[in-house]
Amino acid sequence: MSIETFPTFTAPAREFWSAIPEEARKRIIANVWCGKCGGSTTITNFSGTIRRGDLLLVGKCAVCHKDVARLVEGT
Ligand SMILES: [Zn+2]
Repeated sequence: MSIETFPTFTAPAREFWSAIPEEARKRIIANVWCGKCGGSTTITNFSGTIRRGDLLLVGKCAVCHKDVARLVEGT
């Protein structure tokens, strides 16, 4: 999937995200905590915004479709 086509990323969030190596991005997407599933899951249909220098991904659990979020800390 091509990250660059996500329309739900703000411009600075897209810049942050595209600076992360693809392998790391895949790991982030596939390691999001879901409270309902009680373990790590894959985030889908996510959007990206910058919060205080960190990237916040908000989307749905690939398994149960509950809302999940993942914070990617800035360097
Ligand atoms: Zn879940």
